Order: sequence, then C-alpha cells, then structure tokens
Amino acid sequence: MDNIRFKALAFAISRPGRSVKFPDQKASEYFGELTFNRAAMREYLTEEAYNQVMNSIEKGKKIDRKIADQVAAGIKAWAISKGATHYTHWFLPLTGATAEKHDAFVDPVEGGQGIEKFRGSELTQQEPDASSFPSGGIRSTFEARGYTAWDPTSPAFIMDRTLCIPTVFVSYTGEALDYKTPLLKAIWSIDKAAVDVCRYFDNNITKVFPTLGWEQEYFLVDNALYLARPDLVLTGRTLFGHSSAKDQQLEDHYFGTIPQRVLAFMQEFELEAHRLGIPVKTRHNEVAPNQFECAPVYEEVNLSIDHNQLMMHLLDKVAKRHDFTVLLHEKPFSGINGSGKHNNWSLATNTRENLLSPGKTFKANLRFLTFLVNIIKAVNDHAELIRAIIASPGNDHRLGGNEAPPAIISVFIGSQLTLMLDVISKADKHISINANIDNGLLKNLPKIPEILLDNTDRNRTSPFAFTGNKFEFRAVGSAQTCAPPMIVLNLIVADQLRQFKKEVDALILKKVTKEDALFQVIKRYIRESRKILFEGNNYSQEWEEEALKRGLSNIKATPEALKAFITKKSVDLFERNNVLTKRELIARHEIRLENYTKKIQIESRVLGDLAGNHIIPVAIRYQNTLIENVKGLKQVLDLKTYGKLSQNQMDSITEISEHIDKIKTFLNEMIEARKGANRIQEAEEKAFAYSDTVLPYFEKIRYHADKLELLIDDELWPLPKYRELLFTR
Ligand code: ADP
Ligand code: MG
Repeated sequence: MDNIRFKALAFAISRPGRSVKFPDQKASEYFGELTFNRAAMREYLTEEAYNQVMNSIEKGKKIDRKIADQVAAGIKAWAISKGATHYTHWFLPLTGATAEKHDAFVDPVEGGQGIEKFRGSELTQQEPDASSFPSGGIRSTFEARGYTAWDPTSPAFIMDRTLCIPTVFVSYTGEALDYKTPLLKAIWSIDKAAVDVCRYFDNNITKVFPTLGWEQEYFLVDNALYLARPDLVLTGRTLFGHSSAKDQQLEDHYFGTIPQRVLAFMQEFELEAHRLGIPVKTRHNEVAPNQFECAPVYEEVNLSIDHNQLMMHLLDKVAKRHDFTVLLHEKPFSGINGSGKHNNWSLATNTRENLLSPGKTFKANLRFLTFLVNIIKAVNDHAELIRAIIASPGNDHRLGGNEAPPAIISVFIGSQLTLMLDVISKADKHISINANIDNGLLKNLPKIPEILLDNTDRNRTSPFAFTGNKFEFRAVGSAQTCAPPMIVLNLIVADQLRQFKKEVDALILKKVTKEDALFQVIKRYIRESRKILFEGNNYSQEWEEEALKRGLSNIKATPEALKAFITKKSVDLFERNNVLTKRELIARHEIRLENYTKKIQIESRVLGDLAGNHIIPVAIRYQNTLIENVKGLKQVLDLKTYGKLSQNQMDSITEISEHIDKIKTFLNEMIEARKGANRIQEAEEKAFAYSDTVLPYFEKIRYHADKLELLIDDELWPLPKYRELLFTR
C-alpha cells in the first residue's frame, strides 16, 4: 500500500488518545503563576521598584536606570525560581506573528564557572538584528538596526522555561516596526479624548481604557492527514477537495458534545493558558465539523492582544501533542463555514464603569448616548479604513460568503435603539432635556436599560454589532492579529471624540447650555451617519443593492480594500493623532500588498504542483485501467454485447480526458499569468495582477479536479478527502 492517504488514515484512526494530567491545585491557585503579576512583583521587588513599575503602568512614567536594575534583579530571581534558563524580548513584528530571540541567563565567570546575570539594560532595551523583518522599505538592510523596548503594561511571562518580556519594536530612526507601538499610541489617544468627553458628565473619571474580548475560531485536523495534504501544510487551506456528502447541513456540530480527543486537547491548553494568566473561559463546537471556538474574559486591550497572540501559539503547540494540527486560516475548506475572530470592544473607566452600558439615571444615559453616537459616527466616516484593516487573502474568501459579514461595513444597534436615535434626531432643535424629559420626545431615554434587557434581537450577520454593553466587530479574520483592527477602532473613535468635544465647547462658548449643546451635536451626528445603521440581513442580495444606493462601499478584494490606508484622509487621521506617520503608513500598505502577492503566488504554485503532479497522474492511471478494461471486454464479448456494455466505460474515459484537458489548459494559462505578474515591480500593480489575472484560475482548476475526485477509484486518490479531514477526531 503506497498510497499516502491510506497510510495517513491508518495513523489517524489508530490514535490511542492522550490523557490530561490535571494539577492537584484549584485553578485559582495556579492562575497566572507563570506571569510576573502584581503578587510576584510585591514578593520580588523592593517597595521603591514596585511603586515605580506601578507608576509606569498606570501613568506612563519612566523608570530610572537604577530602579530598572532592581526590577531586572527581581524578575530574574522570580524567573529562575520558576525554572527559567533563558530570557527574550517578545514582540509583534509586521509579519503578524510574534518574534523572540533567546539568550541564556548564565554567563561564564573565571574558573570555568557560571552565574546567572540579567541587568536593567537587558530588561528595558535590546537590539535584535532586525534586517529580515518586513519594514516596507523603511529600513534597508545596511541600516538594519532596530531596537526593542520594554512594555511594562503587559506582564512578563514564562514559556518553555524562557522569560518573555513584551516589548515594542522600533527602527533606529524611531519608526514603528511593529503593531504594539501604534497600538499603545492609539490607546493613549482614546484615553485622553474619552476622559475629556467624560468631564461633561463626571469629574471622577480620570482614565478610560479600551477593553477587548476576542473569540477565536479554529479547525482541528488529524496531524497525519494534515501532513498528507501539501496544500494545508504550505498554505493553511485546502486548494482542492470535493465537498463531503454530509458536512454542516444537519447543524449537528454547533454546541454539540465535544469529542473526547478534542476535549483533552482543550483541557490541556486551558491549563497552560491559565498558568500564563490568560483568562480563557468558554469552549464549544462551532458550526462546521471539526471547527471549534475558545474565548476569554475580556481584558484591557493591549494585554488582551498579547494574550491572543500567545493563545494562537498555545493552540498550535498543544494540538501537536494530541496529534492534531490547528488551522487558524479564515477559509480552510470551501463550501462550509470559515473562521473568524470576533473582537468585542468597549470602554472602561477608572471608576469601574463601562461607558457603553446604559445607566439608570438620565445623566448616565446621556453619556451612553454620547459615546454610542460618536462611535457610530466614527465607523460611518471611516468605513473604508475599517474594511482595509481586515483585508487579507484568507478573509477575502470569508467576507460575503453567507457565513460571515459582507465586505460592506455597517453598524447594528437593534430596533429599539435605532428608534430612539431616530426620535432624537428629529426632535425640535431647541429641545432641552429639562423641558422634555417628562413630556414626550425623550421619555424613552431613561428606560434604555430595560429596553436592552428585553432586546434579544442580536444580529449575527452584522460586521459591527452593538450587543448590550459592547460592540462586536465580527469581520476580523481568525488568523489575524487583533492589533490592527484595535488600532484603527480606537484611533477613529478617539479622533471623533476630540472633534465632538470641539464642537460642543464651541456651542457652550456661545452660551448654549451644556445639555443643549450635547444634544445639538448628537442630533446632527445621528443624521450624518444614519446611512451606516442597518438592522436587516447582511447576507442578503437586497442589502448589497440597498448599500449601493446608500453610497456604502462594497470592496471584495484585498488590493482594492488596502487603498484606504494611504488616502489623504487616512494619513491625516493617523498623523493628527500621532499614531503613525505617512511614511509608516506607506510602509505598512506596501507590506500588506507584498504579503497578499506572496500568499497568492505560493497558493498558485502549490495548486500547480498538486494538479499537475498528484491529480493528473492518478487520473491517467485510472483512465488506463478503464482503457485496458474496454480492450479486454472487446476480446471476450461478441460485438453486439460489447457495443452495448462498453458505452458507459467509454463515457467515463472521455469525461476524465476532458477534465484532464481543462486542467492542463488552465494550468498553462495560470502559469503565463503568473509570469506576467512576476515581471511587475511596483507592489500595488503586482498585487492587482495576482488578484485579477492569477487568482481567477484557482476556482476553474479546482472545479475539474474536484470532478475527477468523484470519478476516480477511491483507492488511487492521493489526497485525504473532505470527509476524512472533517470527521476524524
Ligand atoms: P457571543 O458573541 O458568542 O454570543 P458574548 O456576547 O457572551 O458571546 O460575548 C463574549 C465575549 O465578549 C467574551 O470574549 C467577553 O469577554 C466579551 N465581552 C464581554 N463584555 C465585554 C466588554 N465590556 N468589553 C469587551 N469585551 C467584552
Ligand atoms: Mg460573538
């Protein structure tokens, strides 16, 4: 038996299953034990050092060099007590993955002995050779120096006996080469802007921090079957595969009983996550077979993003121990649901309130209304940028596929809130809350909490939905880091809040009362952004038509979507909020285009290899068997019977020949298109060439290859089939 598919299947079905070794302690006793959290800081730092670190975390104050040495000594002692031998700066380069370079604590000293060393300077700053990270032309290799600098707001942690110190990564000339730098700036920006707006309502609010709770979807595939699929190994998705007779149509997987082997995997990664202080809470089966989800309790956004990066790493690592491979790709299998990463986002205050929770009093509701309307306005004004930030070749397959939100950005707030906004926007322009609170127009306002409690109309088709006390950004792809969408969301809302404050203050200067001023601006914003609100089915054809009429954009492919990054509007937005410069934006735009081109290029090559060297040879082998068979029939049957009985065989031979012919023709055309695209130097033009001239062949070739899968002897087919990939567990 030399068919690799059968070998892989034999492995997959004979897995003994691995049992989880649970610790003796309760979860609360080991939660966070591998992080340098506050308890560890209190134990290992002097009071002075502890206070400085706290000041740095809470107020962004700098830590003195002397104190940095003390902090480093404390972290070192703690890390060694937990078995760590190495340390690394851990950062988020523009590859979308994480990067680390390990150094041993131990240093040689005289007499052939060693001691563990870790200085303050090693904690706070490093200079990794950064020449091979994408920089979009900002840093040519001869000036490759980039440095990493400690981010004390995300606690250091230990993974695989290595102390990991979350850092930012910037070039020697000060440009950001990572996601964390602009993220921290956006967080800072929304903090300031939101606090300023909160002052209209409550002077006790001195800090506002965005919160993020992500929901990570993924697929599991048996590792042996995975390894027998070169397309999965090299591209993360299947480029071929006829749909399984049964997949998700019975809807029997969603929230179903978790298979034992999968459960053991989940229990083990949760254990590791909890040790790392990642508050994973929820696990369940998703819609598609072998698709699952995990979600934590929400956290401050910077920490939550680091935790998501770590989680993706953990999923992958722990899955291997259970002979699974995790697929984080947005669309690993065609014909069934892909995977997303919902980003639940809200704004919390130092007074432990959620600015997106409607309160019980009129004042609290006016504050809620203020933030709600400003967020809607921000999304309305920057819908193209939001579309751009979630654009990736993987997500292009998912958006608009009747399983995920379309490429049209809209906001869902529920029918009750929509009604309320409509009432407010149409109210008399001299409306004053004191005059109207009890007599009509605004009487709904104090009742928002009750409205929301009864309001169960959650719209699962919306890309950006209000869900009671937070917005759920549902269009983010499962493989993407949450950082870019969170940078953009916090940035546009910060910018909007600042604009709002300017407009309200201008009215107050003209002796308009504060409430009237707030209402006047809010009313105008509601009217100006009314077109972004949509309550209906986002998957429907009618919405595409309606959105077109409303002037909302519907950009399907990444290269086109990415244009919004570098428009003047976008550059101004990023620069005026000091989040990214024009140069940095252009670099990021280029990196994304290159990433797009390379991914499609790789897929195209793998597709060519699989079709040409795996599928066609097998098709020809089977065809020869049929030909031999027909020849044999001719020898043993009389001519009349032969004529009658050989027809079906002959038809199969013709059918197979036609599919082979089509595949070969399209393959040749695709290769020509690729050659043409490869000759293009300019990044955007090249990405468009890949998108417009190479990519369209994928479906054409696949169609015929998948037909062959149905025609050819199962024993010969070399690639694990959908039913095997999706139902082995
Ligand atoms: P689902 O969308 O699957 O119905 P939920 O609506 O219960 O699930 O939301 C789950 C996610 O929302 C969790 O990750 C949770 O942490 C997050 N979440 C809840 N409240 C907030 C908040 N105030 N800020 C950010 N995320 C939140
Ligand atoms: Mg959700």
